[in-house]
Amino acid sequence: MESFYTIQGEGHYQGYAAYFIRLGGCDVGCVWCDVKESWDASAHPMVSIESMVSEAKKSGTEIVVVTGGEPVMYDLTQLTQALKAEGLMTNIETSGVYPLTGTWDWVCFSPKKFKTPHTSIYGHADELKVVIYNKSDFTWAEEHAANVKDDCILFLQPEWSREKEMLPLIIDYVKNNPKWKVSLQIHKYMNIP
Ligand code: SF4
Repeated sequence: MESFYTIQGEGHYQGYAAYFIRLGGCDVGCVWCDVKESWDASAHPMVSIESMVSEAKKSGTEIVVVTGGEPVMYDLTQLTQALKAEGLMTNIETSGVYPLTGTWDWVCFSPKKFKTPHTSIYGHADELKVVIYNKSDFTWAEEHAANVKDDCILFLQPEWSREKEMLPLIIDYVKNNPKWKVSLQIHKYMNIP
């Protein structure tokens, strides 16, 4: 769908320069999705892996974040092989609804209530990032945290349109449950993609 060099705004790599490759296509259907234009893959041009990788390399980045849409709808083996052949770090952002393919240096698993994740994602997640839209999402976040690896980093992130209401609850929750960390979408404060 698009690619751009920016600052990773969320999660463990927040604040790092990162080149984003956003793949078109998503069948998860989050009501609050802020990239609904990504859902229809056919609305976006086909781009070769060679072209994606060479543009990423040219940007000067060290980290490539593959996102969507929902990137696990695709076999990502060749894309990640080509990125790693150029010495680039491979990070993915996914809701984990299909089995993960490819070779990844960092897996950010962000489950969504609108489609149940595939059970295989829990063993891959380096980072669990749960978007908090309402109070019941804390219980739901714990259900996922119970299934990830012991060293998986746990983040709670307010949904952008609900930040005013949810952030105070998240702050209290993290203070009472310090295995969690707060993630804010700092790219939105910086007005960058
Ligand atoms: S998984 Fe991501 S791209 Fe897909 S609907 Fe949800 S927020 Fe949007």
